[in-house]
Amino acid sequence: MANRPYIVGNWKMNGTRALLAEARAIDRGAARAAGVRVAIAPPFTLINPMADAVQEIGVGGQDCHVQPSGAYTGDISAPMLKDAGASFTIVGHSERRAMHGESDAVVLAKAGAALAAGLDVIICVGETEAERDAGQAESVVCAQLQGSLPTGEDVAAKVTVAYEPVWAIGTGRVPSVDDVSAMHRAIRDRLVAIYGEDGAGVQILYGGSVNAGNAAELLSADEVGGALVGGASLTAESFLAIVVAA
Ligand code: PEP
Repeated sequence: MANRPYIVGNWKMNGTRALLAEARAIDRGAARAAGVRVAIAPPFTLINPMADAVQEIGVGGQDCHVQPSGAYTGDISAPMLKDAGASFTIVGHSERRAMHGESDAVVLAKAGAALAAGLDVIICVGETEAERDAGQAESVVCAQLQGSLPTGEDVAAKVTVAYEPVWAIGTGRVPSVDDVSAMHRAIRDRLVAIYGEDGAGVQILYGGSVNAGNAAELLSADEVGGALVGGASLTAESFLAIVVAA
């Protein structure tokens, strides 16, 4: 059976409890869009209250530590996310890779920690503008996949890949549909090389400046199974317009 389109909101470092009203409205809207799978990754502080406030949508983390517990001041572990009500976590977002120096090896370790805690993982990959201009976009993304994707029995079913060109995040700029299709086909080939036939079922999300106006076109590109949405996921109105477009 084909996967339902998967639309995930990444709230980043935005939101206090006042924003739970938007999550409730998104949850009500998602209940009317049964053909679409919807989730939000709020800041850590909102995972537990959001999980209690919603019924239809998934709630997840934006990152996790590689260790389950210990002397890591300020960090949050995958078992803690699970305990708070998360069902998945994002790992390897380009903001973590760039601002926290996370290598593919660290992303791989975080993905493994998440799976060990019983969470699904969304693993982000994407090239910088300089890498695209140098004609290296596909090789960079394929190397990130090779280095960041956990392997093992039954792992593919718990993995989602998000292709997020770094230069499209929060900029209002998006790749052409042809470029999105070409990259997503290359990612699919790599997933099949890594996971065998299970790689055909891994959902590949596009992320980077998705909004109500461009969602339908971006989601129509080859091998695009949904979207990872930043800024436009912060209000029910803009996020649900993307859900409806899916
Ligand atoms: C993101 O950071 O994951 C993202 C896609 O952000 P935006 O939609 O704001 O570009």
